[in-house]
Amino acid sequence: MENKQLLAFTRTFGCRGNVTDGEKINGMLAKMGYGFTRNQDEADLILFNTCAVRENAETRVFGNVGSLIHHKRRNRDLIVVVCGCMVQKEDTAEKLRQTFPFVDLVFGTHVIHKFPEMLERFKETRKRIIDISENHEITEMFENMPVRRESKLKADVPVMYGCDNYCSYCVVPYVRGRERSRNPDVILGEIRDLITDGVKEIMLLGQNVNSYSHGFPRLLHEIDTIPGEFRVFYMTSHPKDLSHELIDVIADSKKISHHLHLPVQSGSNRILQLMNRGYTVEQYLETIDYARKRIPKISLTTDIIVGFPGENRADFEKTLELIRKARFDSAYTFIYSKRDGTKAANLPDPISKEEKSTWFSEMLDVLDEVSGDAYSRYVGETLRVLCEGEGRAGCAYSGRSREGIIVDFNCDNMNNIGEFVDIKIKEALKWAVKGTVTKHGSN
Ligand code: SAH
Ligand code: SF4
Repeated sequence: MENKQLLAFTRTFGCRGNVTDGEKINGMLAKMGYGFTRNQDEADLILFNTCAVRENAETRVFGNVGSLIHHKRRNRDLIVVVCGCMVQKEDTAEKLRQTFPFVDLVFGTHVIHKFPEMLERFKETRKRIIDISENHEITEMFENMPVRRESKLKADVPVMYGCDNYCSYCVVPYVRGRERSRNPDVILGEIRDLITDGVKEIMLLGQNVNSYSHGFPRLLHEIDTIPGEFRVFYMTSHPKDLSHELIDVIADSKKISHHLHLPVQSGSNRILQLMNRGYTVEQYLETIDYARKRIPKISLTTDIIVGFPGENRADFEKTLELIRKARFDSAYTFIYSKRDGTKAANLPDPISKEEKSTWFSEMLDVLDEVSGDAYSRYVGETLRVLCEGEGRAGCAYSGRSREGIIVDFNCDNMNNIGEFVDIKIKEALKWAVKGTVTKHGSN
């Protein structure tokens, strides 16, 4: 009888860094002969790659893992794996261990390369394996691992791992370890191969790409000289390390995106200091002014936290003031979530949850006010767009511009998805712009 191929269901929570780990995990599974399914009922292995950045991310994972008990009862051979950032935190690792005895394999962010070996060992012994080493051991770079990418057009390329910034609210340095930068030649080689394979969009990843130890401006410049039409996004930029030199390189480049994701977190200098962010509101505004001067079409997005311990009404109003001054195109907004083990977890936090929620809604209104018609500045402009698939709102196609903006458009003679086209923008919506094709093909 023919052997049935084993099927894996894998799900990644959280940031793009976790997504690249997920692609490596899928790469290893494929190499071990697994196929993939989106249906948990037919899976032989179910894996959750978890996120620990906020409490609600953890709650979702606990819910998802908890529901697996039914699958495990139905299929005794099912293998359940939980990995990623949550596992790296002592309290959640302990909770997983005690609450979910049916989880077979648990491993942290720094040992993902050992996954095949752990899985083999588990299959032989059927004994639960938990591998979480101490934080100071997290030095791995995970080079030369198999990768199973989700997209043919786009690829994520990590430039660095970990983080040394220790923003006082953030768990990342504890679960991802010390900051370590990848070798520039390895990165450039990887990107050249991806472009040869037909990839059109590269996302460079790091918790703070501006502190890339071999020089981020130089790396971007070198990537820009690789032949072919493609585009390079990068995240995340940290305001304290974003230099004018980097903005100049981007302004003079052909392929580096004109989208800057620059998390500000707060508009109060007092709170920024308590957060250990290393810049002031004035410095932040100066940086974005310079970026807008050098790159007029740039789009600017940010992250903001409301209700940091000790934040008062006056601090919060300074955040509103900053939003009005900075005129972000959009923002990812969060209510502060206490993370055990971080510095901020020990600060007094007298403002109630209800009040923080009221502030949060107030902030969303102000963001709406400033970003509601922000895209109208692109009407009449021509944006170069990578066609990625089907459009919305009565348009046949959709893609993103160099500014990272979603562009929906119609075109009678589109050759294929993955083509670059020039689009004259006719209309601005809240989350996208609409236009028509003026030019096909290469630049
Ligand atoms: N390295 C990136 C982002 C890391 S996490 C940076 O420094 O910008 C992504 C976002 O989650 C952060 O920018 C922050 O706004 C938010 N975040 C991180 N920890 C948080 C916490 N404890 N509570 C609420 N939001 C948090
Ligand atoms: Fe967290 Fe700050 Fe590092 Fe970003 S820079 S990952 S917010 S510690």
